[in-house]
Amino acid sequence: MHSVTGEGRAFAALDAQSLGARLQEIPAVAERVGPDSSKWKIREVGDGNLNLVFIVEGPAGGVVVKQALPYVRLVGESWPLPLKRSFFEYHALIRQEARAGVGTVPAVYHFDERQALIVMEYLSPHVILRRRLIEGAMPPKIGRDLGLFCARTLFQGSDLCMPTRKRKEDLALFADNVELCDITENLVFTDPYFDAKMNRHTSPQLDAVVAELRADRDLKVEAQRMKHLFAAKAETLLHGDLHTGSVMVTDADTRVIDPEFAFYGPMAFDVGMLLANFWMSFFAQPGHERNGDRAEMREWLLGVAAEIWSVFRTEFARLWRTERTGILYAKSLFEDQEDALGSEQALNAMLAEIWTDLLGFAGVEVHRRILGLAHNADFETIEDPDLRANCERPALRFGRQIAVNRTRIHSIDEVNDLARIIAGEGA
Ligand code: ADP
Ligand code: MG
Repeated sequence: MHSVTGEGRAFAALDAQSLGARLQEIPAVAERVGPDSSKWKIREVGDGNLNLVFIVEGPAGGVVVKQALPYVRLVGESWPLPLKRSFFEYHALIRQEARAGVGTVPAVYHFDERQALIVMEYLSPHVILRRRLIEGAMPPKIGRDLGLFCARTLFQGSDLCMPTRKRKEDLALFADNVELCDITENLVFTDPYFDAKMNRHTSPQLDAVVAELRADRDLKVEAQRMKHLFAAKAETLLHGDLHTGSVMVTDADTRVIDPEFAFYGPMAFDVGMLLANFWMSFFAQPGHERNGDRAEMREWLLGVAAEIWSVFRTEFARLWRTERTGILYAKSLFEDQEDALGSEQALNAMLAEIWTDLLGFAGVEVHRRILGLAHNADFETIEDPDLRANCERPALRFGRQIAVNRTRIHSIDEVNDLARIIAGEGA
């Protein structure tokens, strides 16, 4: 169990000096780290884009302390962002743990709403999945673990499962996460397709393909249709930022972190964003071949994408058959009338729709990571700009194909084949 407080002094950002004294007052911390803060070792993690993250270790153990700031940490005070994102992160973490299971996210020990501060489990020796993929590592459990995580959280946060009052209360609660939704709405769905101020891309190498994409009417229409779905289809509680930088792993354990973008949106969004990040890793691998050939790694990545989708479908179907207790597709219409086939037909229609939509979300996710503000390390760590562009260019074409042709692509094998073909065509 965790403790919660909203009382106490006005918000004050932590620093390494004040942290010990302030955290010592929180029983949930002292219990886990040890009572005497002079024996603690505190360091800032420092790779967060938006927030402060500290690791606090002591004689009894360690915790992570994550605190929101009233602005975007990466940019500074010129870009204000409300503290309440911490509130949404806390509420999402406890729901994800309840739905996907203990050990799928960091356990929450304490939440202080006023200080916008979450004390949580210190994941160690876990490493951010994206970093492992750049190194060429193949953590064996991620396909299955992430497929299960998506199916369980997305199914159980929806009208397929939740009691209608609770579901509507949560819809209302997360509807207030306006500012973070606004970031996604602009950064993901719109900025990549025009000359937005904060955009950047590998230039001049990609200039021609960028001009081509911005002139691509079918693509822009499709991206806006995806944005429409994102904004209007309040279907389930999303993680909202589910990429390989939001997953920490060891070979034996997979944890999803950082759900501050959580809100009610379409199921396909989380799955599409996640798969896109594996496909991007696939396209980035030739940029990391200095330390050895990545042919096996590339096939493994496509295999992980296929496994996530296959595990997702199987688990979603299992939940559909066993935990369909919400207001949708009532059993009285199907199973109770000996019409199991009707229920399967509805399930298949739903999975088909998730599939079509996830391809659209995946396509725009690829584009925004190469053309927008928030790039990913898979490409960014390729230092030679020509080599980087030669990885990014086919990824952009791939993103365009899956977004525009999303209703005409029927299986993950087709998508993986398309990735191989486009990568093989060369830059
Ligand atoms: P932000 O929202 O600012 O991006 P994250 O939640 O992604 O912050 O955390 C930033 C970094 O801190 C992560 O990339 C990871 O290295 C580290 N980190 C975050 N949470 C934990 C945790 N529970 N245990 C260990 N390390 C963590
Ligand atoms: Mg974050």
